[in-house]
Amino acid sequence: MKDIWKKISVLLVLVTVFFFFSIHSKAEEPLIIVIDPGHGGENLGAEYGSYTEKEMTMIVAKAMKEELEKYDQVVVYLTHDVDMNMSIEQRALFAKEKNADFLFCLHFNMSVNHDLFGAEVWVPAGGEFYSKGYSFAQIEMSELTSLGLYSRGIKTKLNDRGDNYYGILRYCSGQQIPSVLIEHCHLDHAKDQDFYQQGDDQLKEFGRLDATAVAKYFRLSSTSLGVDYSDYPVEETPVPEGMVKPDKTEPETCRIEVTNINKETGEVTVSMEAEDSDSYILYYNYSLNGGASYSMPDAWPRAKAWDQSDKDHSFTIYVPFDQPIILQCGASNGFDVWAESNEILLDPIEDPQRIKEEKELLLRKFWLLWH
Ligand SMILES: [Zn+2]
Repeated sequence: MKDIWKKISVLLVLVTVFFFFSIHSKAEEPLIIVIDPGHGGENLGAEYGSYTEKEMTMIVAKAMKEELEKYDQVVVYLTHDVDMNMSIEQRALFAKEKNADFLFCLHFNMSVNHDLFGAEVWVPAGGEFYSKGYSFAQIEMSELTSLGLYSRGIKTKLNDRGDNYYGILRYCSGQQIPSVLIEHCHLDHAKDQDFYQQGDDQLKEFGRLDATAVAKYFRLSSTSLGVDYSDYPVEETPVPEGMVKPDKTEPETCRIEVTNINKETGEVTVSMEAEDSDSYILYYNYSLNGGASYSMPDAWPRAKAWDQSDKDHSFTIYVPFDQPIILQCGASNGFDVWAESNEILLDPIEDPQRIKEEKELLLRKFWLLWH
């Protein structure tokens, strides 16, 4: 009898020890983060002046890793930490091999016409990868906009097969790894140049900011930094049914009215109304020649959040009143799809016949110019 009790107590001790260790080891399991510095080797990425994207993403990625490693219970890998060729698929396979909980792909942007500005985060279009990507991207975007960058939004992009357009998001989703692609800012636009042209320390600041967004999303704590994000309010994004498609239709509302003209100074006040129910209004611009050429896009007011926009905007432009002018404005949705407004004729001389003739001449000139 005594023997049995002895055996039972030994067994109980063993079971307790086993449970303690199994729970303990589960709690101690580290978070695995893979950071992918965009481009590398022969793939330079964007080039602007003396700046090369692959060099910039490497500086940001290393700073992000260094900062993230200050948090408890995190293991961080870079897909590559020297300048080398590496295919997009290899990067996703690397993350798989490391058993990554998330992959963050870092980039800088440039636009074809050098007219776009701001930051954007691309997320996988389907399932839990969309919802995880979107939840993280909201935190990332609030960090980026806190620097003063304009938000181009949190978006999906599909290829013609209806799959994720960006390879890194496509391959990571295929490997069951959550991922996002961060475009920090545009190299080729004056509005964004203050955010990266102050030297390497400024680029490292992007890395620290990215790491902070990750720490908030995963509710990490750092003894060395003295921060605790364990209660950070991460907004849950519902898992969508099917793929979340980009908004390819132009804003349904784009109207202008001239509310004030000062012919002495050339000041014209324009009241504009623009709305896109599928996404939001991102930029606006104006034309003084009936849409033949437009001004550089400007930021549309979006006081509420990065995924919403105001409906009305009033602004002042300067018009040389030495000939008739056909004013027209444009508004783009969150995916750079533009709509044109109604035209308004601004006439320097109150002679209807002359205005009619000059308008016809002007339109014919632009027609010839564009055909
Ligand atoms: Zn890039």
